[in-house]
Amino acid sequence: MITKYQKQWGFLARKFESGNLAHAFLFSGQDLGSITFFAKEFVKFLNCSDTQKPCGQCQNCKLIEKVYPVKSDSLSESVSSEAGQFNRGAFPDLFIVKSANSESSIKNEKDMMEIDVAQIREVNNFLSYKSYYGNCKIVIIENVERMNLEAQSCFLKTLEEPKGKTLIILITKNPEVLLPTIFSRCQTIKFFPFEKYKETQEEQETLQELLSIINSELATKFQYTKRVNLEGDNFNKILEVLQRYFRNLMLIKMGVIKQTSPSQFNNCPILRIKNIIRLIETLNTQISTTNASPKLALEILLMEL
Ligand SMILES: [Zn+2]
Repeated sequence: MITKYQKQWGFLARKFESGNLAHAFLFSGQDLGSITFFAKEFVKFLNCSDTQKPCGQCQNCKLIEKVYPVKSDSLSESVSSEAGQFNRGAFPDLFIVKSANSESSIKNEKDMMEIDVAQIREVNNFLSYKSYYGNCKIVIIENVERMNLEAQSCFLKTLEEPKGKTLIILITKNPEVLLPTIFSRCQTIKFFPFEKYKETQEEQETLQELLSIINSELATKFQYTKRVNLEGDNFNKILEVLQRYFRNLMLIKMGVIKQTSPSQFNNCPILRIKNIIRLIETLNTQISTTNASPKLALEILLMEL
């Protein structure tokens, strides 16, 4: 597991050993299970009392394992039913935040996705105390993009002025959904290459057509929604094409990937692009969970663009 991410491990270990570890990291990649496992192993490494770090045998390693039992082969989505049930007292310098799992979340995916401001206040409270072992206080936030806006703004202050020796590890699959202010306050560690998705001929044509429609008048947009085939999963395909386009744009704006061709949205503020991505996600959820009309949804979307 560690061998898979040897580069990332080496980088962090060197920073730690030279006393230059940043106070906040954003771990981003697709395989959340193995990234979370990596984070836990790194926490052990920081606290291990053996020379073979992390030994997995010393008291600290054992306690961390007990507090944070992540397996490398765990589900890639770490929506946990055990959120909040950690034995926090067992290793008092480590605090884990997961998205809350309420009863309604089984029916409502959006609800399950939220990390709310109460959880971030708990983080702030945790960080306000001194380290129990005299090392650093560590916070891990899984699926950090699930923080709602209120939680993100509350968290910003913590990121700006961390008290004492602090290490904050944010884990995400979708760094582009985070507020740019949060993104810019963390050092990003990538756990996968952002591979460029190869679009099919059909997808390319759909995108080109959409991009020309986006620039047109309202009447042209409505004509398009009348004429385009939205049967079956065609509407989903349109949303996917647009989402990929705007996500890429976001990653370009954040400097994660390089721009290969110019875009009509180049001068568009990053916040607006984020709102477009959010809108596409909302429409996608509504269409797949309710009887909402795809035609109406597409009209709403095109009016926004
Ligand atoms: Zn150890």
